[in-house]
Parts: sequence; structure tokens; C-alpha cells
Amino acid sequence: MQQVLRPSVLVLGAGIAGVSAALHLQQAGLDVALIDRDTACRGASFGNAGIIQAEAMEPYAMPRGLSVLGSLTLFGGYEVRLALASLPRLAGPLLRYWWHSAPVRHAAASRHYAKLVARATQEHAPLIEASGADALIRRDGFRSVFRSQAALDAELRYAAALGRDFGVATRALTAAELAAAEPGLTRPLAGAIHWLDPWTVRDPGALVAAYTDLFLKRGGTFARGDALTLAGRARAGWTVATDDGAAEGEAAVVALGALSPSLLARHGLHIPLIPKRGYHRHYPEAANRVDLPFLDAERGYVAAPMTRGLRLTTGADIALPGARPCHIQLRRAEAAARDLLDLGPPEEAAAWQGTRPCMPDMLPVIGDALPGRGLWACFGHGHQGLTLGPATGRLLAELMTGGDPFTDPAPYAPQRFR
Ligand SMILES: Cc1cc2nc3c(=O)[nH]c(=O)nc-3n(C[C@H](O)[C@H](O)[C@H](O)COP(=O)(O)OP(=O)(O)OC[C@H]3O[C@@H](n4cnc5c(N)ncnc54)[C@H](O)[C@@H]3O)c2cc1C
Repeated sequence: MQQVLRPSVLVLGAGIAGVSAALHLQQAGLDVALIDRDTACRGASFGNAGIIQAEAMEPYAMPRGLSVLGSLTLFGGYEVRLALASLPRLAGPLLRYWWHSAPVRHAAASRHYAKLVARATQEHAPLIEASGADALIRRDGFRSVFRSQAALDAELRYAAALGRDFGVATRALTAAELAAAEPGLTRPLAGAIHWLDPWTVRDPGALVAAYTDLFLKRGGTFARGDALTLAGRARAGWTVATDDGAAEGEAAVVALGALSPSLLARHGLHIPLIPKRGYHRHYPEAANRVDLPFLDAERGYVAAPMTRGLRLTTGADIALPGARPCHIQLRRAEAAARDLLDLGPPEEAAAWQGTRPCMPDMLPVIGDALPGRGLWACFGHGHQGLTLGPATGRLLAELMTGGDPFTDPAPYAPQRFR
């Protein structure tokens, strides 16, 4: 007969959001089981650009100019592409995203978002230390590099505003200073902005694995199972089928990244989400030709030296789950990177693909999903989930255990979509 796991909380999804929530709930004294369909982290938390973005005080808004919208829909922009076949089902969430991206509403969202981002490195620090993951981390920031002076000047104005409003620290590099800092660049550029506060991770999947090991060492349980089997128990609580038998908890946390709304919809809560796919590939020969990770700002990709080579990650490819992968952005990123570096051949024949879980109002979904039923949400971290996971994990644990939340949780309430 199979055993029955009986922790007090089931955390569904072992990406950065789920693992961070599990660690904070455990620290608050709860008995926690982490459940994922994969035994190793392979979702967005595995394949991202690896930047703990302490400078990202403003969430990623939708480009609002009509010319921008036309070009991204028809041809696929560098930064954003929209799969036309997905448009009918995503039109509603995209319209809401457009509405929330108006400057005044975006500024309001940023005021909340900045409070989470401001906690990012502070919340990662003790987890990095306790999990022995220091060798994966660099605390030297990253750069945005610019091909044209006009684009550099515009971003310098934006960086100055972030410095003024949020205390974000930057340093401007001239063309000569950038060439000296990155001797691997094979052509001159207009210059760069060095964002000084962020940390970078040489292998984000290994960081999540180290955090998961820490959770296990501290007495947590991991089981492989399909979260979509989640069912309410007759009296109270939740049960989910795992390879080790049924897991039963008084409460459950939905941390399935972009797949979270599918599970919540089965339990009556419909939350709109915009799935923004991204792709990566590694170029081993180029790993030592770049010092700090950089964003090629006018081409919309990130190049980051990682353990498997220089990782190129793409911008957003908006498409429904199951839509055929589209590699146009990765091909363009690779061509743009070859224009700057001796890239060499890619390590993988096929690109990795993962999905950023983006909300129309650009704020994550943290809190009680079905009040009184013990079903909680921790997803929707969009473009900055690696950054935000430990901070939102703390907020969720504070809400679940009746602690004092470190920031006003109202903007993140799942019920805001009702
Ligand atoms: C190309 C790219 C670059 C990015 N760069 C950065 C960056 O530099 N910095 C940054 O902060 N963020 C970045 N992000 C965003 C960040 O990666 C995501 O916001 C974050 O990883 C989301 O974490 P998550 O735990 O919510 O989701 P995921 O990491 O996707 O984890 C979800 C988990 O749920 C599991 N799951 C799904 N369905 C089921 C099921 N039915 N049953 C059981 N388990 C299930 C999956 O296996 C997975 O382990 C990037 C994203 C992409 C795609």
C-alpha cells in the first residue's frame, strides 16, 4: 500500500517562486511538501538570463505606440513578438495589459513593484549563504550596451530618473570605456550603462536546485506529481496524487508559473495571464569573451556568461501554451550577437524554451486565492521572477501565518481579478 504524505502545506511547483515560498513557510514553522511534475528545475526559472534585477523598479509595460504594435504583430519585433493565431484568446488580457501600461497606471504599479524589487538581493542573500551557492553569484551588476548615441542618450535620461525616484545606481561608459571593459567586442559601440546594484547568476537552474536542497536539508519533502490532480478534501484541505502516493495538506499553494491559471480555473477562479515565451542557447567558445552580462538594448536580447557557455536569451514571444515554437527572435539575436562577438557554434541543436508568467497589471499574484478554502497563489512574476521569488515567498508566508506583511499585500491579491 502506498504511503500518504501529510504535511501542513502542499506547495505546487518547484520553480523559484515555489521553492522560495516553501523555504519561507518552513522557516515560519510549517511542515511543507514541494510537488512538481519534474524532478529537476526546467521551467522559466532554469532558462532565464540569470539577473537578480535590483534596478528593475518598474515592471515591463506594453509598448503603446501604434506603429510598434503593428510591427510586432506582423513581423515579430526583436523585443516582442505576438503569435497571430493566439490573438483571439489573448485579446482580452492584452487589452487589459495595454490599459494598465498607460503612464499614470504604470507609475502606480511601479510604486508597489519597487517595494518588492528593493527586497530582492536582501532576500536572496541569506538563501545563497545557507545553500552554499556563493560560487554561482557575481555582485558586479550588468550592462546595457547601445549601438546608437540617440538610444544611449534616451536610456541615460531614464537611468537618471530611476536614480532620482528609486535610488538606482548606474555608471555611464563611453565607447572607449566600453571597449576597454569588454575587449572581446569586435566592433565599436556608442557606449553603455552599467547597472551597479544587480547580481548575476552563472546557472539559475543550479541556484534553484541549491535552494531546493536547502529546503530538503531543513526537513522539507519533495514529491513528483501532477498538480492538476489537486482536489479539495471532504472536510477541509487538499490532496494531490504523487508518485509516492497521495499528499494531503491543510493548505495548498499554486506556484506553477504560467500554468497556474489552468489549475485555479478548475476551482472556479479565472485569472487572465499573458504567456511570454523566451528562448536560449549557449555558445561555449564565447563564454570567456564577455566579462559582465549585457543587454544589447536595440536588439532585445541578453548575452550572459554562464557555466555552459555564453547564454543568449530572447525577448518575449507572446503565444498560448502548446503553440508551435517560433525561433525568429533567437535567430535574430544570434545574428546581432555575431555582429559584436566571435560567437562560435551553439552547444545545443535545439533551443530551450520557457514562459514568463505575465499579468495584465504587471504585478504578481500573491495571497489567498479562494478565501476560507486554504488555496493560495504565488505566481505571475513576469519578467523578474528570479529577482522576486524570495521576496514574494516571504510575503506569502507572512500572509499565510498571520504575520505582519513587509509591504501592503492588497495590490497582489488574487481576488483583484474577480
Ligand atoms: C528568456 C527568459 C529570460 C528571463 N530573464 C530573467 C532575469 O534575468 N531575471 C529575472 O528575475 N527573471 C527573468 N525571467 C523571468 C523568470 O524566469 C520567471 O519570472 C520565473 O522563473 C518564474 O518562476 P516560477 O517559479 O513562477 O515558474 P517556473 O520556473 O516556470 O516554475 C513552474 C514550475 O511548475 C511546474 N509545473 C507546471 N505544471 C505542473 C503540473 N501540472 N504539475 C506539477 N508541476 C507543474 C514546472 O515543472 C515548474 O517547475 C526570464 C524569463 C525568460 C523566459
